[in-house]
Amino acid sequence: MLPPGADSVVVRHGDVGVKSSHVQSDMERTLRENVAAMLADRGIAGDVDREWGRILVRSAEPDRAADAAADTFGVVSGSPAVSVPPELDAITDALADAAREHYDGGAFAVDARRAGSHDFDSHDVNRAGGDAVWAAVEDDFDPEVDLDDPDVTFSVEVRDEEAFVFLEHRDGPGGMPLGTQKPLVALLSGGIDSPVAAWQAMKRGAPVVPLYLDLGDYGGPDHRARAEESVRKLDAYAPNRDLELRVAPAGDAVERLAESTGRTRMLSYRRFMYRVAEHVAEDVGAAGVVTGEAIGQKSSQTTANLGVVDRATRLPVHRPLLTWDKQDIVQAARDIGTFRDSTIEVGCNRLAPNQPLTAAPPESVRKDEPDALFEWAEDVADAVESAEVTHP
Ligand code: ATP
Ligand code: MG
Repeated sequence: MLPPGADSVVVRHGDVGVKSSHVQSDMERTLRENVAAMLADRGIAGDVDREWGRILVRSAEPDRAADAAADTFGVVSGSPAVSVPPELDAITDALADAAREHYDGGAFAVDARRAGSHDFDSHDVNRAGGDAVWAAVEDDFDPEVDLDDPDVTFSVEVRDEEAFVFLEHRDGPGGMPLGTQKPLVALLSGGIDSPVAAWQAMKRGAPVVPLYLDLGDYGGPDHRARAEESVRKLDAYAPNRDLELRVAPAGDAVERLAESTGRTRMLSYRRFMYRVAEHVAEDVGAAGVVTGEAIGQKSSQTTANLGVVDRATRLPVHRPLLTWDKQDIVQAARDIGTFRDSTIEVGCNRLAPNQPLTAAPPESVRKDEPDALFEWAEDVADAVESAEVTHP
């Protein structure tokens, strides 16, 4: 619901607001840039300003601009709004206009907030605004006030230079502005989980460097295509970042691994994968790795085995989905738009031995695994740099 004359979007953040003031200012600047990039990416003309605690968008397309803001990491909500001078008369006029357009029965509330210095306070706005809404519709029906459970909420935000009137809050993803953390290498398999994990890391401000291990005969071109497609989807959330898929040619190494290992194979495979990721992370200046692993989802993801695979790398392995159930991951994948692109059997199912160990002792994993495993990983990582990078 847009108020008549809507010309702006009031954008709110959340966790950014609990920072010290200079950190908050820096993060708000990044958020401003990211919202502006999201608008530009969607061809929406508009100016984006930063004010303390708020990002304000001026646009002739406030509806689309609000959607764009609500897709930007760090944004808690966005409201398409009409801006008026910070005076009671102007505010009540805008409220009356909004009521005539959008209030046609049920109960209403006026919810005013104020920051800055004015010769009225938010209670005055609530009172005068309530009267104005009432008077605007009383010839048509009997209005009713319900502050606890209104059908229509007329919101007012009064600031020093102007006031905003709006009727809705569009939920954003929350989190932190993208780019306020050091990047992470995101291991993307082409499956369902890994794009959701990468998205979660991005939501907390960490840009990702997507890395796909091409497993040769154990993988397949469709897997790579799925990984590419999920990078394209993730890229839409990061319009001012270059999201490129790096492809690691791991087919030979995985084949040798399959020949020489048994029940601990999947653990060695994952240790190899982390080591490749570690080299890539060093190469691109990433601070860690993010994966779609969840406790108990596979034999290599038991609490015991996660401990074993972690020993392969010095870098932290972040697992945002650690405690998530599959159905919640699937729902999140649908919500962020990566689901359809990732419903395939991933190739490593073919690599898995018949009876993988669920709690392999670290010594037995190391004893069974090829001595040269980490050298293979280094070679494969070297080949990543020269491999074709797919621009989404
Ligand atoms: P996904 O977890 O992506 O849905 P999956 O569940 O079949 O696919 P798992 O075997 O659970 O894959 O792998 C756990 C994690 O390891 C993945 O979430 C992903 O981060 C990483 N991974 C697995 N295979 C690959 C690959 N071929 N390339 C890059 N990363 C991979
Ligand atoms: Mg998985």
